[in-house]
Amino acid sequence: MTRGPAVTSPHVLVVEDNPADARFVEELLRMGMGSDAEVATVDTLNDASAHVARHPVTCVLLDLSLPDAHGLEAVELLRAAEPQLPIVVLSGDDDEDTALRAVQSGAQDYLLKGRVDEVLVTRAVRYAVERKRAELELLRLALHDSLTGLPNRALFLDRLEVALARARRSGEGVAVLIVDLDRFKTINDSLGHQAGDRLVTMVAARLAEQLQPGDTVARFGGDEFAMLCASVEGIDDAVVAAERAATAIAAPFMLGETEVFLTTSIGIALGDATRQSAAALVRDADAAMHRAKERGRSRHVLFDDVMRIAALRRLETENALHRALQRAEIRLHFQPEYSLTDGRLTGFEALVRWEHPHRGMLGPGEFIPLAEETGLILAMGEWILDDAVRHIARWRGERPAYDLVMAVNLSARQLAVAGFVDTVRATLARHGVPPSALVLEITESLVVAEDEITRRAFIELRDFGVRIAVDDFGTGYASLAALKRFPADILKVDRAFVMGLGTDSADEAIVTAVVTLARALGLDVVAEGVERPDQRDTVARLGCDVAQGYLFAPALPPDAIADLLH
Ligand code: C2E
Ligand code: CA
Ligand code: CA
Repeated sequence: MTRGPAVTSPHVLVVEDNPADARFVEELLRMGMGSDAEVATVDTLNDASAHVARHPVTCVLLDLSLPDAHGLEAVELLRAAEPQLPIVVLSGDDDEDTALRAVQSGAQDYLLKGRVDEVLVTRAVRYAVERKRAELELLRLALHDSLTGLPNRALFLDRLEVALARARRSGEGVAVLIVDLDRFKTINDSLGHQAGDRLVTMVAARLAEQLQPGDTVARFGGDEFAMLCASVEGIDDAVVAAERAATAIAAPFMLGETEVFLTTSIGIALGDATRQSAAALVRDADAAMHRAKERGRSRHVLFDDVMRIAALRRLETENALHRALQRAEIRLHFQPEYSLTDGRLTGFEALVRWEHPHRGMLGPGEFIPLAEETGLILAMGEWILDDAVRHIARWRGERPAYDLVMAVNLSARQLAVAGFVDTVRATLARHGVPPSALVLEITESLVVAEDEITRRAFIELRDFGVRIAVDDFGTGYASLAALKRFPADILKVDRAFVMGLGTDSADEAIVTAVVTLARALGLDVVAEGVERPDQRDTVARLGCDVAQGYLFAPALPPDAIADLLH
């Protein structure tokens, strides 16, 4: 970053059309800043711009009533022309309000002409310079990736907008490449995060070396990079750029003594004069990159018309899903759960359904993944939680003696949202349901991920009294250590193992192991997918506490549950 001239020999420009005021301020500056300070005066904004173009100005003192600009406009014009320049506004006593607003719109400080002395003026200049420097540094941080120093997604999109606007005028093409390292996670896991970070930094440097003038390389996070090729004539140029990037990364990296080889999956999307916004272009390149991964990695894929049609279709489903949520086509069904010790109904698991107007009843497998990808799961998840809690409030009211509990499935994405814990609290409060009547189910993979934010959220929820169940247990290879650190209360044995009971002796061994583990950690065990009486008997004998499955009941609509309670 260029830092501007040092404050020790400052060059201050006074922009003031009243000669008496100008002379007065000049005098104060000379007194306050010493003899090596250079002070120049101009009387219009136009002359100010001309002066700044020729001299290394440290700071501008700007009067708010100039012949060619007035009030805030003067600040805005100067700031637009010279975004790096610190500005101190000079104002008359009668318009301190305007001066304040000037600071809000980008000046660094203001001085009241009638109340200024050499100390105040000097302090204001020094302060403005420091403040501007801090401002620029913050801006740089906000637009760059801290690990590699490369532009981040926001800055990349900004530059892409500019490049697209230029392409519209010149008729040239713009290409976006999404470059993703293959199997980077394995390297990260085996060599450690620090080594992973070093590798990412080295990759960033190699990609930056490949840049042509006018191009940009950015880091989108993790091991994902984006390149903007600002003047490509067609597909061939873009492919050449992708091949250059891939070749640059293919040469071995040295991490200490270890030689590391990387391959890349690259998605390419071309924008031209008529087509596409920056965001759409990045999305297309990203889709092409995922296609490259699917096709076996270490290759590049061009976003083409076939993919465009597939993307459109997805967009249609996505829109339909949006509408479904608004039109209450999304419904909850509830599957009863029973105690294996006394056969009592203990509660329900809420399972979501889509009552599709043409395709009939759809299970979660057909729309939850899309909802997760698009972020719609957040709104949907909030609705699901609310509706589930609303129902359990009613059913607990009807059968107070049962102490019924509601289990709700969560997606990882819901947990990453700040305020999730508050949402849970507010939902329970809204319906007057105690926290002990709610169980939140998460898949074992979330435990494996050992994400600190998730863990904290769960600790908070659990302190509050909500219980946490680890779903599909046994499929995700959670380590004992991870499980011990994780604030779980319940393990749900995956139904695949229950299914095999009686036919596959390994499954009985697995269920036994899960129960033993749960006992050691003080957790309850729920067996899901119990379809036959012999399976029920076995899970009961092995020590599971609660069971659910088609043997007892499938997931039922709310009125069927109401019937069941009566
Ligand atoms: P899960 O949490 O493991 O849910 C249990 C699944 O097993 C349900 O399928 C249920 O209908 C089915 N099931 C219950 N008893 C039996 C049985 O005896 N035999 C067999 N073969 N299957 C049985 P469903 O409703 O299709 O849900 C599938 C998955 O979708 C759920 O798996 C859960 O991971 C996810 N899901 C369901 N509702 C929600 C939700 O509201 N939010 C989120 N994020 N995910 C949900
Ligand atoms: Ca579940
Ligand atoms: Ca499950």
